[in-house]
Amino acid sequence: MATLAMAALFAVAILIAASLTVIAWRRRREGAGFAAIAAIAAGATWWSLATTIPLFSRDPTVVMVAISLLYPGVYLVVGGWWATSRALTNRFWRLDRRSALLLSIEPALATIAIITNPWHHLFIEHVQPTAIDGAYAATFGPLFWVHTVYCYVLVVISAVTVFRMYIRQTGRYRGYLLAIIALLPASVINLTGILAGGRLVDLTACGFALSAPTMYWVARHSTPALAPVVHREVFQNMTDPVLVIDPAHRLVEANPAAAGLLARLGISDDDVARNIEVLLSQLPENAEGDYVLRNVRGVGMDLNVRVSPLLSRNGEPAGSILVAHDITEQTRQTEQLRMQLATIEALQASLAEQAARDYLTGLYNRRHLMTELASALEGGTGFTFVLLDIDFFKKINDEYGHNTGDDVLVNVASRLISTLRPGDVAARYGGEEFALLLHGLSAGEATAWVDGLRHAVASTPMRVNDADVAVTFSAGVAAGDGYRCPVSLIDDADQALYVAKANGRNRVEQATRHLARGVSAARP
Ligand code: GH3
Ligand code: MG
Ligand code: MG
Repeated sequence: MATLAMAALFAVAILIAASLTVIAWRRRREGAGFAAIAAIAAGATWWSLATTIPLFSRDPTVVMVAISLLYPGVYLVVGGWWATSRALTNRFWRLDRRSALLLSIEPALATIAIITNPWHHLFIEHVQPTAIDGAYAATFGPLFWVHTVYCYVLVVISAVTVFRMYIRQTGRYRGYLLAIIALLPASVINLTGILAGGRLVDLTACGFALSAPTMYWVARHSTPALAPVVHREVFQNMTDPVLVIDPAHRLVEANPAAAGLLARLGISDDDVARNIEVLLSQLPENAEGDYVLRNVRGVGMDLNVRVSPLLSRNGEPAGSILVAHDITEQTRQTEQLRMQLATIEALQASLAEQAARDYLTGLYNRRHLMTELASALEGGTGFTFVLLDIDFFKKINDEYGHNTGDDVLVNVASRLISTLRPGDVAARYGGEEFALLLHGLSAGEATAWVDGLRHAVASTPMRVNDADVAVTFSAGVAAGDGYRCPVSLIDDADQALYVAKANGRNRVEQATRHLARGVSAARP
């Protein structure tokens, strides 16, 4: 009766495992994981089929043969689970020859032990009837135990691999946990049977009946986990170098781009830690964000390094991720643009300066004088305006030539510059006329000052082009306060200059003020 119930359960297990074998095998091209699960399912089918025979046969020889026949199923289940763990944790895993060879060593040895068992009984000692309807069960010898320990070690190692992936995986894909949970019913029932040592028939198939639906679910829905552990792929294929370091600044991981960068920088593998130390020493303590490193290791490479903190699951610092981006070309272009801009600015300044200067004397020109005058009037601080005209200049030109006339103008200009105080303005107003803007002087003080200059110029002939040229000038002085318009002020100074000329030249006159007059009176 009990055996019939068990047989029904076994039939269910066989059906599920067999269909899972077909489903998984059909999808084998989608990823190595499907082929691996197909292997587990095929193993479970075989194993369940083999253990059905002892439920019905009471012939010890038949039972012995049936038990011996189930081991290929065991190899497939155990090897399949190992392969599943590989495929679940590595998108690109494929069963290579070496692994296949290593995996088949133990099954080969176990198979030899089982085939030769009738002579030594070191694998299966004997079969004996149990309390379950008198169905036969086996008691095992030392070779069986070696085989079983080997199998369980492989099962546990694979489970640990998958579990570690589950812990590391940010998405926490539950397929990983389910794959491990799927193992439990079959493993627990199998272990119980083994430990019962000959008093219990092999009920592992009942475990498969429970395990298989879960495995079926994993196989159907675990494409995301079976197929792409895509993070790794992204990391490997990123063109920007990525380095992962632990809190002690030791290198944990580097993608191929980072390895290439380190090579370009001439940093050998052994040198990485020290160089990361050097790199980090160039960044602020507990750096986070983007940093630009110029001319890294003197190889002319500029890098932008993005530092992102890495936190453990309980929120403690677990190191940093450094993503480097080569910005050499970018900085070169920026630098070039910056230099071009500086040149343009210098040219602009030089042009502006040239536009404000008189070509011959280097003094400010009339245009610039007007701006200076306007801002002096706006500023409202006291200043005095002087117009200065060389006497009988036409005669100088006539007597010594135009070139000497030019040199006289240059000479007068440099005398003005050398006697003026900083902040005062001297400009060439016209041909042989100059204008002065003297800050902080009253008309009287300015008149005295200009008269001093006049006296100094008049007292000694100028040495120009091997000639001693007697130069005198006349000047008109007007105080700048009260004027709203530069033109009226210039007019008044001009008026005073005219008076100086009229009164015999080589003299300075102060303007009588005509503030109310908007337009200058015509010069007589
Ligand atoms: P006054 O005492 O009345 O000012 O007599 P002046 O001869 O100085 O005055 P006038 O205005 O009649 O002549 C000015 C001369 O200055 C005429 C012009 O040839 C000369 N002149 C103007 N600009 C320049 C220049 O850049 N270089 C030279 N060499 N001569 C110039
Ligand atoms: Mg003149
Ligand atoms: Mg003159």
